[in-house]
Amino acid sequence: MSSRAPVIWWIRRDLRLADNPALTAAVNSGAPVLPVYILDEQEAALGAAPKFRLGLGLECFARALEKAGSRLILRRGSALAVLRELAEETGAGAVHWSRLYDPQAIARDTEVKTQLKKQGVEAKSHGGRLLFEPWTVETKTGGMYKVFTPFWKSVRVRDVSSLLPAPGKLPAPDTWPASENLTAWNMGAAMRRGADVVARYCRVGEAAAQDRLDEFLQDKVSAYNDRRDFPGEDATSGLSENLAWGEISPHRLWHRGRAAMEQASQGAETFLKEVVWREFAYHLMYHSPHILTASWREEWQDFPWSQEVTPEVQAWQRGQTGYGFVDAAMRELYVTGKMHNRARMIVASFLTKHLMSHWKIGMEWFADTLVDWDPASNAMGWQWVAGSGPDAAPFFRVFNPSGQLDKFDASGAYTSRWIAEGQRNPPQTALDFFAAAPRSWDLSPEMARVEPIISLQAGRDRALTAYHDNRDSR
Ligand code: FAD
Repeated sequence: MSSRAPVIWWIRRDLRLADNPALTAAVNSGAPVLPVYILDEQEAALGAAPKFRLGLGLECFARALEKAGSRLILRRGSALAVLRELAEETGAGAVHWSRLYDPQAIARDTEVKTQLKKQGVEAKSHGGRLLFEPWTVETKTGGMYKVFTPFWKSVRVRDVSSLLPAPGKLPAPDTWPASENLTAWNMGAAMRRGADVVARYCRVGEAAAQDRLDEFLQDKVSAYNDRRDFPGEDATSGLSENLAWGEISPHRLWHRGRAAMEQASQGAETFLKEVVWREFAYHLMYHSPHILTASWREEWQDFPWSQEVTPEVQAWQRGQTGYGFVDAAMRELYVTGKMHNRARMIVASFLTKHLMSHWKIGMEWFADTLVDWDPASNAMGWQWVAGSGPDAAPFFRVFNPSGQLDKFDASGAYTSRWIAEGQRNPPQTALDFFAAAPRSWDLSPEMARVEPIISLQAGRDRALTAYHDNRDSR
């Protein structure tokens, strides 16, 4: 089709032109570049909100590619079959992609690499999603890190590769292969009423991500260390959504954060430490993939957590527990697809301790509702709070959602932003929850606030009894 054989750039979680090693390699080959996104089984199985957010990201990225003189080719089917077909159709001699690190993606990509090579097509994976490839960080005795602080100490002094520029124009083939239509894929199908509401709270695309980083470094980083735990304040970067879809590289956060350390050392250093928590999550997932499916510590595998979605769990999902911090947080999640980090810890503690429900139930709910869903950070976060993970908070440290509210939302800014009931003029944020919630939940802002579904003391006592029984039985 083209006078020169193209190379395929297989796009996955790297919806950006700048600092993208796979794209740079494709462009540096000197051949025309075919950007391709494949909706395969793994991608189709994403939760409702991540899939919807991916759709927004692809739409925005297709426009960015057009500005760069290129196109986004969309195809459906098994990744290997589609890549083979495209290679045959276009004569492409190579496929480049950015690595993913979850076991399913690793299995798929390994097979794709082997089979393409057999077919005589060069297949090359690249870094770019992480600052440090998980296999390059090891303890002095050669094992994986299981505790964050030594992990942080070992990577903080490492060199991080410098940023790669975005190519001005992408070399295009003479003719383009056919593409499917993104609208027809209906990536928001599982969002029910929530799609329009959640979309308003998303900041999609590479340019938005870079603006967000600029704003954070200019206005917020100096206070980050002191204010990042207060969910009523806009004190964090909000970049998790963009990192999740690769709209910005962690390398950019790292280099800009290092530069900011010169002016606002404590805030910037704490920010870099948080970015490295994300690296640590990937390190854990890569070296111990069972973190995604089972309690990381064996002694927790028989802990008597309930595995059922009980009416109490439903109340938790719907922001109807009667506890302000928990309900505000669960509504923030349903409306924006995001939740403040402290709030994530509080709702996870409430579910796994006061309600004695399995952390997997919470992890799965987050995987269905977060637009910044990340398999590694989500699993690590849940197991950290539940007490079953490596370097986890001890189970007996049960967050008291009322005490936490007094400490971190004394002015009530967070709860009034998200809970409409009882307010004469509730803000739009609080009302948005009722616009997004499925009709079957039968909720209205005129309703009275629900009474607490469990006494904090009784829930805490039940959890601690289970903890002691489980420990004594070993
Ligand atoms: P900032 O405070 O600005 O931090 C900058 C970046 O550092 C974040 O964007 C994120 O990439 C990283 N980071 C910060 N805190 C953490 C952390 N505790 N663990 C790992 N990385 C961190 N984060 C996700 O990106 N996706 C998830 O699915 C996810 N699930 C979580 C589930 C639970 C139960 C818990 C307790 C935490 C979870 N986190 C998850 C981590 C954290 O809550 C979010 O990364 C953070 O709230 C994002 O907001 P921000 O971008 O403003 O963060």
